[in-house]
Amino acid sequence: MTVVTGTPGILSSGPLLKTFGVNRLMGPDPMQGRCPSCGQSIVTHIDYEVGSHAQTLMCLFCFFGGLFCCWIPLCVPSMQDVVHSCPNCQYPLGRYNR
Ligand SMILES: [Zn+2]
Repeated sequence: MTVVTGTPGILSSGPLLKTFGVNRLMGPDPMQGRCPSCGQSIVTHIDYEVGSHAQTLMCLFCFFGGLFCCWIPLCVPSMQDVVHSCPNCQYPLGRYNR
């Protein structure tokens, strides 16, 4: 029988989770990792935000489709930026710009 002795403070089981940081690229979907603020392994909570891409689309939709179409980019999540935050402490972890 083998007893696994890990270094205190470092998890010895499961895949090694990367800590979210400034240099980590965020995607459009919730991501798994470690929160630099509370230190928990989390799956990011995502919010959609109207970014410059959606604003540009709004202008185009408005120009070609009129006022009835210009709000479409505001309602379609795939046209908006994605803001990742920690579900535990609400720490802002990053952003995915379209
Ligand atoms: Zn956190």
